[in-house]
Amino acid sequence: MRRRTFLKGAATTALMSRLRPSGTAGTSRAAQTKRLAFGGIQIECSTYSRIRARMEDFTVRRGQELADDPFFSLLKTYPYPFQPTLLATAVPGGPVERHTYEELKAEFLHRIKALLPLDGLYLAMHGAMYVEGMQDADGDWISAAREAVGRDCLITASFDLHGSLSRREIDNLDMLSAFRTAPHIDRQETARRASDMLVHCLDRQIRPTLIWSPIPVLMPGERSSTLYEPAKRLWAQLPAMNAAPGVLDASLLVGYVWADEPRATASAVLTGTDPDLLRHDALSLAQQYWDARKEFKFGVPTDTLDACIERAQALPTKPVVLSDSGDNPTGGGTGDRADALAALLRHHVQDAVIAGIADRPATEACYRAGVGATLPLKIGGTLDPQGSRPVDVTAKVVFLLPADSLPERQAVVEVSGISVVLTARRRPFHEIRDFTSLGLEPTSFKILVVKAGYLVPEIAKIANPNLMALTDGAVNEDIEHLPKSRYRVPSYPFVPDLEWKPFTLVGARSPQRAL
Ligand SMILES: [Zn+2]
Repeated sequence: MRRRTFLKGAATTALMSRLRPSGTAGTSRAAQTKRLAFGGIQIECSTYSRIRARMEDFTVRRGQELADDPFFSLLKTYPYPFQPTLLATAVPGGPVERHTYEELKAEFLHRIKALLPLDGLYLAMHGAMYVEGMQDADGDWISAAREAVGRDCLITASFDLHGSLSRREIDNLDMLSAFRTAPHIDRQETARRASDMLVHCLDRQIRPTLIWSPIPVLMPGERSSTLYEPAKRLWAQLPAMNAAPGVLDASLLVGYVWADEPRATASAVLTGTDPDLLRHDALSLAQQYWDARKEFKFGVPTDTLDACIERAQALPTKPVVLSDSGDNPTGGGTGDRADALAALLRHHVQDAVIAGIADRPATEACYRAGVGATLPLKIGGTLDPQGSRPVDVTAKVVFLLPADSLPERQAVVEVSGISVVLTARRRPFHEIRDFTSLGLEPTSFKILVVKAGYLVPEIAKIANPNLMALTDGAVNEDIEHLPKSRYRVPSYPFVPDLEWKPFTLVGARSPQRAL
């Protein structure tokens, strides 16, 4: 709030200066000519996944299409225009294919170079990207951006709270801000904090100090939701910390646990102009996070798939929303596993819906057969045949989504009283309309199986109750038993008796490096 008020004043000054006859204020003229740009890449990659993110998995917005994205309309509220470059986003998954990454990076850099010279750059990142054959891919992207814009340009960045930071990222950025909520309901506010900070620093000719404390703790998002303790109280103190004079941003990141990388840790990061205060706050957040490490627990009841199904059947309420957490595509899961279908059949469950299983061959077979047809189907294991086994069923096609392109296709089939949503490509089912658009009323079912970890608010609202099945997959929540790491630094809970004291690192571009 405080900074917003400052900024408003600064922006008004800049605006007023435009109205003055030219030549009356040298600094105002400089302010008029600020050149800003924005872009980035956002994907979360499980290094335990066998699938690869290819170009067709990315939504790439560039140029005017990116400028017109309603999400970034906030960038039009500043006195200086933010020029669009390229933003590539994808559903979380496996590592990015090297060639795809290099192609996206080359175009991004080409677009940046066409806009030079730049005074400021806003990078909209996720922070948990992994590229084939490359450690610290986000650091690679950010340092390439730095090289392109040069030393004088200020770079700000926004990150997902599940991003992992590195020395390379910190050394090439001037400032950053991360989401403060999980489930993420503050994407816009975070983008606003990151861009406000950039404009504020440019207006006042500030080169901020960036202080980072990496914390050797790794938790899945499902054990660190900000709806529950201890995350609730840890993150709740950030706005007050941020409001102190000398602090431009206070961020705390959980990091990404399904990445076997040295940078995979939690982080406390402070941006501002008072290095002593920033260091104090970073150390305080890091110590508190460390002290709370054994408190991180799942926010909802968890059990095996079979036990969750038995429990759901015994409950008098509905719909019981059962999270198939190990195959959650929004966490990096493959989304093609049919384990939940096999378990529901095993338990002779009626009145259940599974949304959804990514299976292009089965989806295509349904479209070929048409609504009303009954056909034999093999469901599951098509994207990662080594990861899971398909289930052989006889299915009746009950709904086919009219779709403009093959990847958009979705079919609803009935298998022994269970409704199964088959999708041509990996996708989450996070909104009620994801169901209603397929003719399904989610509250009418006894059991609603979703491939998710923690539930997003819209589905959480109807869950009566939510049970989380700790299932197998590329984002298995049983993190203590993940395959042995090769690159990860010693961290809790992988090293249960780890001893650690917080420390801080100062970004290489910060004016006062020696603290
Ligand atoms: Zn996240």
